[in-house]
Amino acid sequence: MMIIMHTDATKEQVAAAVARIEDNGLSAHLIHGEERTVIGVVGDGRMIIRDQFLHLPGVDRVMPISHPYKLASREFIPEYSKFPLDGVRVGDNGIVLIAGPCSVESRSQLLETAYAVREAGAHALRGGAFKPRTSPYSFQGLGEAGLEMLAEAREATGMPVVTEIMSPEQIPLLTRYADVLQIGARNMQNYSLLNAVGKSQHPVLLKRSMMASIEELLMAAEYILSHGNRRVMLCERGIRSFETATRNTTDINAVPVLKSLTHLPVILDPSHSTGHWEYVAAIARAGIAAGADGLIVEVHNNPTEAKSDGAQSLKPERFAEMVSQVRAVSEAVGRSLAPVPVSEPSVVGAIAK
Ligand code: PEP
Ligand code: MN
Repeated sequence: MMIIMHTDATKEQVAAAVARIEDNGLSAHLIHGEERTVIGVVGDGRMIIRDQFLHLPGVDRVMPISHPYKLASREFIPEYSKFPLDGVRVGDNGIVLIAGPCSVESRSQLLETAYAVREAGAHALRGGAFKPRTSPYSFQGLGEAGLEMLAEAREATGMPVVTEIMSPEQIPLLTRYADVLQIGARNMQNYSLLNAVGKSQHPVLLKRSMMASIEELLMAAEYILSHGNRRVMLCERGIRSFETATRNTTDINAVPVLKSLTHLPVILDPSHSTGHWEYVAAIARAGIAAGADGLIVEVHNNPTEAKSDGAQSLKPERFAEMVSQVRAVSEAVGRSLAPVPVSEPSVVGAIAK
């Protein structure tokens, strides 16, 4: 439910409405619009008795939110969310490119790849230090040593870092190193993790599970939002289907569907959704044409030697080619790549020994 305050409602009237909501064991989420304040009321639906709010001073209207996800819905927040990430405006008209290796494997691998993607126009660096692998015998990531390498790459290139979190216990460590916490497909419905990243107030990239509906993805986002953390990006990374020619099936439909249902930025991952580097650029172009706000792409300086996801990783020069194609497509649909922030890399092009 949402309470729409009058345009001339006072701060005291808003505070009184919030107090009434909290007295009912519900929580209040305030959106201060240019003209008026809207209060989202969430909690156990059986406790939400609309009439008691109707006649409070300063209240104009009380409206239901029809979807099961409330704070994520465009009914509650019609304007698309935007938030700054180290000078890059996520969710603005500009398209954001996140690129880097699947896993951080070594200092030279990461730095070489990071410089190359920055040079090609990437805005943020991806790289897993804690990897959720199907087999316990596969490379599990370098852990904290990998985070230190990400911090060095961040310092050297000026790019904010996106890295995966696997459990709530990792919050203190990962929030020290990561600018964005990635919740992977396998953890999309790990509710204690969703609650923990919600409470952390750290930016989050929430990936759709390979077997989740769009509504389930939005409900997962709702967990994070319900703690007041509004800096959430959603990521379509392909879903399971009968098709075996590709690793997953890119649900390109999810892009315009999400843009109509939610105000949260939508990022497409053409790497995991295809599983083959040959198809990555085509699906990246399709995602931007369909309205995605950004891409997350796996790039490796030497894909044949990669410890994870080499088959779907682009070589840096192919990534650069993809960026120019994506730029052209974005302009064709009335958008553009987000400007790369002015914070200049400290040692461009050189890998410190
Ligand atoms: C990844 O980004 O490397 C990853 C493991 O992705 P997903 O969770 O989408 O499989
Ligand atoms: Mn990967």
